[in-house]
Amino acid sequence: MNSAFWDGLAAGYHWQLSLITAVGIAAVTFAGKLLVQLVPTFRAAKRLNRETYAQKMENPRYAANLRWNRKWGVFYWVVIFAGILPFCLTAEAQPVWQVLLDCFVILMVYDFFYYLVHRFLFHDAGFLGGPLMWVHAVHHRQHNPCREDSSYIHPLEVAMGLGLYVACIFVLSRFMGDFHVATIVITWVAFTEINLHNHDLWTVDRFPFKYLNTMSAMHHNHHARFTGGNFATISLLYDWMFGTLDYGQGYKGAEYAPKAKKAPGGVGAA
Ligand SMILES: [Zn+2]
Ligand SMILES: [Zn+2]
Repeated sequence: MNSAFWDGLAAGYHWQLSLITAVGIAAVTFAGKLLVQLVPTFRAAKRLNRETYAQKMENPRYAANLRWNRKWGVFYWVVIFAGILPFCLTAEAQPVWQVLLDCFVILMVYDFFYYLVHRFLFHDAGFLGGPLMWVHAVHHRQHNPCREDSSYIHPLEVAMGLGLYVACIFVLSRFMGDFHVATIVITWVAFTEINLHNHDLWTVDRFPFKYLNTMSAMHHNHHARFTGGNFATISLLYDWMFGTLDYGQGYKGAEYAPKAKKAPGGVGAA
């Protein structure tokens, strides 16, 4: 790397745009919450998840984990919005199709790498043996999660998940050019809300909520057993492609079946 590279990088540092992005994310999230609450189905889901959350918070260990995460969350936000996003942003006008295409590319590229990390590092579902299962095991203590359980997680996992997401934005911006502020606001809100919704306790399986029901049910299948499928988070595309869709019976090659009892000291012990 030469000095021209670093000069170019310094010239591309736009902290003001990063600040606008952060404010935009907060504003869209707030407005979205108000809008969604106009729909009775969402109001009922919120009530159910809030009540479950309140019960879980009575457990001091549960509350301690969430406090632990909030503390680290602030630190991650500062690193991302002060140290990384300022290099990836532009306010120059872009056609709507480009903003939408960029949103799609960022989320799907992230989802691909998250699938690999989740399947091969966080779970023992491949040739690597799951070296980071001890980190991910914290999140899997919740076998039937509610919305807030998307934050019941080891802070290291948040660092890896958010780090991967922001790394995707940074690397893609080197190839595709700086992303519009609106692109990052939309993808950030989508990324957060999808992750939250996957953990939602959700009971409504009729139009137009069928997709939301499927996404929640599939992630709950993942939480039901540590050996479950459904490793991607944004969509089910990669689980479909790689044969790890789990409708509650496990995925092909890792179906749930009662384990045959081994004879004491017998063959087949592993
Ligand atoms: Zn998992
Ligand atoms: Zn989860």
